[in-house]
Amino acid sequence: MTDKLSTFFDSGIYRFDNSNAVFIDPVREMNRSYTRFRVSPSAYYPRFFESKPAGQESKVSSNSRKRKRKEKKKKPHALNEREKIADQRHQEARPLLLKAHECLMRETDLLDVLSNLRSDFDSSRGCGDSVLPGVPEQSFVELARVWQAPLYEITLNFDQHEKPNADGGSPIMRYSEQRVLPIFDNLVLNETGDDVEAEFLNSRYVIPRESSFYMSYLGQIHNLIPADSGCGFNLIVIDPPWENGSARQKSRYPTLPNRYFLSLPIKQLTHTDGALVALWVTNREKLRGFVEKELFPAWGVRYVASFFWLKVKADGSMINDLDLFHHRPYECLLLGQCHREAMDSKCLSKSKPVQDNQIIISIPGDYSRKPPVGGLLMDHVPGFKPARCIELFAREMISGWTSWGNEPLHFQELRYFVRD
Ligand code: SAM
Repeated sequence: MTDKLSTFFDSGIYRFDNSNAVFIDPVREMNRSYTRFRVSPSAYYPRFFESKPAGQESKVSSNSRKRKRKEKKKKPHALNEREKIADQRHQEARPLLLKAHECLMRETDLLDVLSNLRSDFDSSRGCGDSVLPGVPEQSFVELARVWQAPLYEITLNFDQHEKPNADGGSPIMRYSEQRVLPIFDNLVLNETGDDVEAEFLNSRYVIPRESSFYMSYLGQIHNLIPADSGCGFNLIVIDPPWENGSARQKSRYPTLPNRYFLSLPIKQLTHTDGALVALWVTNREKLRGFVEKELFPAWGVRYVASFFWLKVKADGSMINDLDLFHHRPYECLLLGQCHREAMDSKCLSKSKPVQDNQIIISIPGDYSRKPPVGGLLMDHVPGFKPARCIELFAREMISGWTSWGNEPLHFQELRYFVRD
């Protein structure tokens, strides 16, 4: 096995030589957060692994062809001003994306691994059996709205921990502890070095080591603002529920008009040493204009670079034709810096400058699920390590991070894990 592949197996990140592109396996990268569990590859990758029996094409590619035909059939029309800017952005990104994709297609060893990413672990260890048959996934989005929401509690089972000996000797006794805490509008913390299993209503969840979540609607986000900015965050990743026309999206989670995001307290969440801010955006030109002209200035964020997330299938091909206007096979991550007024400029110089136009290639997971970017960004985060990290509008948890949103436990349910 090559060194690059063995690094990939450990870290989930494969760096192409002489390139600004990387391939990520989110399952491997996320598994660094867990001690007793593993993320289940078959639960993480519900799409893009369809095997095509001879003569049949997959639903995804037939949909993509239908779209392509539909777009081709449309009479060519003169682009309006916004579409021209969008097209120019695409033309600039196009050669970078093609080059990155060529790098992937040249790595035959990696391509072999890709086709097996979904079936790497033994499925017999899956936690599917711990999920009661017929129990649907919990809709936290709905539950948080009912009048009983403040009364709902989650039980954290801290078990099989070794208690250190009072005189500093080797650990001597095992103990088990249960903590029952309000699940909404409350910071729930696992400060231990081990995964913790939690119970809520009829479902069970895995809380990674040294992580926390705060489950609330936007109106309560101010509760996360630290009294002391020395306890603020150095890395802030944001994936807002942008409005778009997709009916599919509407049924997955609620969206918000752009103006709601202007009030996100990014500066107040920022650490004294400053923060790297990473914002996921869609390819709609109207949204890009809003972020550049209104949102970043309102947050006090200075734009520094753009990354692209190129989405591929298990055979390495792009999920859609690169030039499909309304269904590009890539999304953008905009990076900026946020400083508090009295920031020590030495802290900024401690972080490596971010190189523009980096490309992250991965096979998409569930609808709208983004690949983890913490590992790639960490070198560019200002301040002392370990960095304090937060994800806003999160649907999952990561060791060392705080996850905020109206459903940060969504992908923490036991059905998404296998026991180690
Ligand atoms: N980054 C996530 C992932 O990789 O799975 C996807 C985030 S998704 C684009 C946006 C999230 O924001 C959804 O979980 C949605 O329920 C949540 N959301 C929508 N409206 C919200 C609100 N008013 N307050 C808090 N969260 C909200």
